[in-house]
This record gives sequence, structure tokens and C-alpha cells, in this order.
Amino acid sequence: AKDEGRNRFHYFTPSMQRYAKYRMRLIQDLRSAIADHEFELYYQPIVSLQGGLGLKAEALIRWRHPKRGLVSPIEFIAVAEETGLIIEIGNWVFQQAARQSALWRDRFGIEVQISINKSPVQFRDEGESINSWVNLLKTLNLTNNNICIEITEGLLLDGNSAISSKLTQYRDSGIQISLDDFGTGYSSLAYLKKFDIDFLKIDQSFTRNLDSNSDDFTLCEAIIVMAHKLGMKVIAEGVETDYQRKILANAGCDFGQGYLFSRPVPVEKFEQAFLVPVNT
Ligand code: C2E
Ligand code: CA
Ligand code: CA
Ligand code: CA
Repeated sequence: AKDEGRNRFHYFTPSMQRYAKYRMRLIQDLRSAIADHEFELYYQPIVSLQGGLGLKAEALIRWRHPKRGLVSPIEFIAVAEETGLIIEIGNWVFQQAARQSALWRDRFGIEVQISINKSPVQFRDEGESINSWVNLLKTLNLTNNNICIEITEGLLLDGNSAISSKLTQYRDSGIQISLDDFGTGYSSLAYLKKFDIDFLKIDQSFTRNLDSNSDDFTLCEAIIVMAHKLGMKVIAEGVETDYQRKILANAGCDFGQGYLFSRPVPVEKFEQAFLVPVNT
């Protein structure tokens, strides 16, 4: 506290000023990015580890900035959340993913379930219209689990009863729910029985050290057993080696996602690698 007092007048250091400037610029640029078609969705396959059929993919946003080139979501999602711009961006992501799923079904005859990441800020938005999402799905004939929404643990601990009813509405409309980054956030597991969740995604920090660290393997095994008993399927994130794939498969993990199968790739690349046209 003493230090704080002494430093108070030096708070705006040159680097802080640089950051404030950078941030303001980022916000300005983000404001026009949707209208200028600078966002793109990359797709990463989620594959069955148990020989099951059915392809899934996670849609991950990319920003092709006219001057800076490809900008990672890590750099702009937080700012988009703080400014509320994530609501417009999130609606775009949903519409884009839904149209893509319908397009793949029509062109390739394959139903690919597409997962999108949905920020807690979108859920907390009181003006959020679930109807407009559901109507688009109806128009595109996508009401049979073609879309999955990935949420994080923090949202479920929110204590906001509106969230729970929104999740129910989505599920009633044929949208599935994934719990992303499982194991990194909160230790309370009570919410797992309170909410209807379809998939648990084991965070990559657990998958990463499966080779060397047996504690992480024990945790993965326990998560898989628990999830199955609660009626959920499990997706392991960050699967990079064949060894990781094997031990996860042996432990009963349902799906894997990671560089071993593919990095997130643009639409055309995803089609070339994972989809085969109906009439060629
Ligand atoms: P996430 O939802 O946990 O997505 C998984 C991240 O792990 C992605 O990073 C993906 O490229 C990366 N990844 C996949 N497989 C591997 C692997 O085998 N090894 C390693 N080291 N990494 C792997 P990405 O695309 O940079 O996205 C970062 C985060 O940005 C996402 O984490 C998500 O939280 C957020 N994000 C991305 N797209 C959206 C979006 O449309 N909306 C929102 N709200 N957030 C998004
Ligand atoms: Ca995710
Ligand atoms: Ca994740
Ligand atoms: Ca993450």
C-alpha cells in the first residue's frame, strides 16, 4: 500500500501510454472489421477416438487485418468483450458457422457438427435474441444438433438464473452444449448436475503432459469416468502425438482434437482434407 502511494503519480509510464494508444486503435479497427469482411472462420476437426462415425469441427475466428495480417483471437477477444463488440462478432460467427454447416450438407451430403465459442458477455446480454438464432437454424434446416455452443465454467457459476434458462432454450432448439477448457477454472463440480451439458472438453494443459506426468493421466481418466456417469461425452483438446491419442482412446475418451489430426485450417483446406464431394 505504501508503494502504491509512492508510485501513484508515475502510473502513466510511456509504455502504458503506448498500450492505451494501441488499445484505442484496436477498438477502432474492430468496429469496422465486420462491415469490411475482415473476419474469417478456420475449422479444426474433432475426431472420434472410438471408431464412431460423424465429423465435428470447431470454428475458430481469425482476423485478416489489412495492415497487420492475420491477428490471433487471443489478441482481440478480450477487448471485444470489454467493449461489447463481441456481441456483434459473436452473431456473425454463429451465422457464418450455421451457413457453413448447411453448405457442407448440401454440397457434400455430410452433416458436420460445428462448434462455436460463445462468450459469457453474449449470454449476459439482456437484449440477446435466442429467437433470431433459432429462426436461422430453422430456415437452414439445421435443428438436429448441427451446431454446438462452447461455454466456459465461469458462466455456470454466474448464479444468474437467466443463463440456465437460455441454455435450456438452446438445447430445446437442437443446439448442443460443450464445456470448454474443463479443469482450468473452478473446483466446484456441483454445476455439472445442475446444467444439461453434452460434451466436456478436457483442457490441453492436461493432455499436454500425458506422456510424462502420470498425475495428469489419472485426472484425465477420472474426468472421463465421471463425465460418462453423468451422461456426457468427452473431447480431449490439444492432442499432438499418437501416444496421447492411444492412451486417451484406451481410457475411453470419445473424441480428440489437436495438431495430430489437423491445425485449424481455412474452409477450402478443410474441405480438401476431410470432405469428399457427392458427385465426382
Ligand atoms: P479455445 O476455445 O480453447 O480453442 C482451442 C485453441 O487451441 C485454438 O487456439 C486452437 O488453435 C488451439 N489448438 C488446437 N489444437 C492444438 C494443439 O494440438 N496444440 C496446441 N498447442 N494448441 C492447439 P486459437 O484458434 O488461437 O484460439 C484461442 C482462443 O480464442 C480460443 O481458445 C477461444 O477461447 C478464443 N476464440 C477463438 N475463436 C473465437 C470465437 O469465435 N469467439 C470467441 N468468443 N472466442 C473465440
Ligand atoms: Ca473452444
Ligand atoms: Ca478449449
Ligand atoms: Ca482455451
